[in-house]
Amino acid sequence: MRRSRPLFTETSAIHRFLIWSEQRKNGPVYFRYGLPVVLVVIATILKVYFLGPLNANSPFLLYFAIVCLCTITAGIGPAIVAIVMSAAAADYFFILPKGEFTFTGLAFYKIAVFLGESIFIILLSSAIMSAYRRVNHVQTLFRAMIEKGSEGIVLTNREGKRVYVSPSVERIIGYTAEEFLVMEPWVLADPDELSDIRARMDDLLGHAGKNISFIHRMRHKEGRWIWVENSITNLLDDESVCAMVSNFYNVTERIILEQKKDDFIGIASHELKTPITTLKASIQLMERMKTDPSNDMLPKLIDRSKRNIDKLTELVDELLNASQIGQGHLQLTKTPFVVADLLTECCHHIHAADKHNLIVEGDNELQVCADRGRIDQVVVNFVNNAIKYAPQSKDIHLSVGQVNGEAKISVKDNGPGVDPEKLPYIFDRYYRAEINSYNNPGLGLGLYISSEIVKKHGGQIGVDSKPGEGSTFWFTLPV
Ligand code: ADP
Repeated sequence: MRRSRPLFTETSAIHRFLIWSEQRKNGPVYFRYGLPVVLVVIATILKVYFLGPLNANSPFLLYFAIVCLCTITAGIGPAIVAIVMSAAAADYFFILPKGEFTFTGLAFYKIAVFLGESIFIILLSSAIMSAYRRVNHVQTLFRAMIEKGSEGIVLTNREGKRVYVSPSVERIIGYTAEEFLVMEPWVLADPDELSDIRARMDDLLGHAGKNISFIHRMRHKEGRWIWVENSITNLLDDESVCAMVSNFYNVTERIILEQKKDDFIGIASHELKTPITTLKASIQLMERMKTDPSNDMLPKLIDRSKRNIDKLTELVDELLNASQIGQGHLQLTKTPFVVADLLTECCHHIHAADKHNLIVEGDNELQVCADRGRIDQVVVNFVNNAIKYAPQSKDIHLSVGQVNGEAKISVKDNGPGVDPEKLPYIFDRYYRAEINSYNNPGLGLGLYISSEIVKKHGGQIGVDSKPGEGSTFWFTLPV
C-alpha cells in the first residue's frame, strides 16, 4: 500500500529523546539534581576500574559527555553541579598526586581548561536545545493547523499521483487520508464538471507558481454530493515542495444558504407584488370615481386598500425584523406581566373577524419578566399560522402553565399538522413546508423570528405535530 509522504519528522530516536528531555527539564527537583550526582559517580567508578590507563592523559574523559547530557536533559543548574563534581573527582582520582585534592600547577591548569570547555559545552547545548525547541514549536503549530483544521490539504506530484493527504480530508469527504491517497485524481468530482476541471489543471501545469481557486462538487463517502472550494497552487518547480498543493474545504452550507436567499428574493418579490398590484388597481378605480364621491364602491375600495397596506406593512416589518435579528440587533425591554392577560388581549383581530374561537386556558396568575411586545409577536405569529394553515380548525387553544420551573405557552390547532420529516427545519430561516403554496402566502420568516426572540429570552421553542392530528406550537420562558 502506498504511504503518504511524511510532512513532519517525529519517529527518529533522536527526536523522541529530545522530546523526553524537554519533559524531564520540567520534572521533579530530585530527578534534575540527582541525575548529575548519579552520572558522575557511575562515570568515576567506570574510569577508576576500567579506563584507568587512559585517564592519565585525559582525566576529564566522559565528564564532558555528562555535562552535555545534564544540560540537555536537566538544564543549566544541574549541569553546573555536574561540572563541580567532575572537577573534584578528576582532581582527586586522576590528577597527580592521586588520592588528594591539588589546586596548584598542572592540576589548576587542567581544571581551568575543563571549566572553560564545560561552559562552552553548556552554552552550545543550550543554544542547540533552544533552536530545537523553536523548530519543534513551529512544527507542532503547523501540524495542528494542517491536521486539525477544517481544510483538506493534498500534494500531487508531476505525474498526477497524490504524495500527501492531510488527515483532515476525512472530515470533509468521509474517506480516510490513506483511502484518498490511492484514489485516481478527480474520481470523486462531478462528471459534468470534469472537463472544465481538467482544462483548468492543464493550464495550471504550464504556469509555475500560479494559483487557481474554484468551487466544484464532490461525492462524499456516504453518497451525497458536497460543494468544496478548492485553491490549487503549482509549486512543482519549488525544490522544497515539488508538488501541486491543493487546499480545499466544505462550502456546502454556504452554497445552500445562497440558493435559499435567491429563492427567498423570488418569493419576497412575489409576496410584495400581490398587494401592490391590488392597491394599484384600487387607486386607479378610486381615481375614476373622484368626481363622484357618493359612489357605492368607494368604501369597499378604501377598505381593500387599507387591508393591502396592512399586508405590505406586515411583510416589510417581517423583513426588517429578520434583518435586525440576522445582524444580532434584537434588543429586549423586559417587564413583569401576567401571561394569561397577554394571551387574552393579543389577538383582537381574530376576535373581530369572528371566524375562530380563541380559547385561553391554564394558570391565570403566572407571571414572567420578558419583553411583552416581542412575546406578543410570537403568540400572534403562532395564532396567525394556525388560522392560515389550519383554516378548518374552529377552536384554537392558547394555554399557559408552569413546567419544570418555566412558563410554557402553547397554541394548538386541529389542522392538517406537519410532516415529521419537515419538523426539524420548520424554525429555519426562509423555510416553508409547502413551497408552492399560493393559498397560504408567506416569507418563511415568522417561525424563525419567533425562535430567535424566544432564544434571546433564554427559553426553548418547539412543535408537537402529527399529520392529520393538528399542531401544538409551544415555547418556554424563565419565570
Ligand atoms: P410563513 O408562514 O411565512 O411561510 P413561518 O415561518 O411562519 O412562515 O412558517 C413556516 C412554515 O411552517 C409554513 O410555511 C408552514 O408550512 C408551516 N406551519 C407553520 N404553522 C403551521 C401550522 N399551524 N400548521 C401547519 N403548518 C404550519
